[in-house]
Amino acid sequence: MAGEPQDDCLFCKIVAGQIPATIVRETETTVAFRDINPQAPVHILVIPKAHYENAAALAAGAPQLAADVLAATQAVADEEKLDSYRTVFNTGGGAGQTVWHAHAHVLGGRGMQWPPG
Ligand code: IMP
Repeated sequence: MAGEPQDDCLFCKIVAGQIPATIVRETETTVAFRDINPQAPVHILVIPKAHYENAAALAAGAPQLAADVLAATQAVADEEKLDSYRTVFNTGGGAGQTVWHAHAHVLGGRGMQWPPG
């Protein structure tokens, strides 16, 4: 069920403390941790603690929680002292989504290209 922890979800396990992660920020509803395979000097994932399979499901099912995630991306960027940064939600396999628990990538610390690959 949407919002409920999933036994087979990697990020639900990070939320539950069952898998280690370098957590940089936590609120009542969100967790932010460093990406295990960073694509920029700063690469942090911000996730809702509740399980939604991607940003679209999160926005439809829990709009306030989606807003919490967005606010957390800004807070993380501030804490990392990023003047410029990129926030990415990969939604669907064709866009590169590999973990089926909504997450925002916060990427910064280097110049970025547009369009993205
Ligand atoms: P996606 O491809 O947009 O779904 O992003 C998933 C991200 O999760 C990738 O950037 C992975 O490097 C990252 N990732 C996978 N497993 C872990 C982990 O255990 N800790 C932190 N990041 C992870």
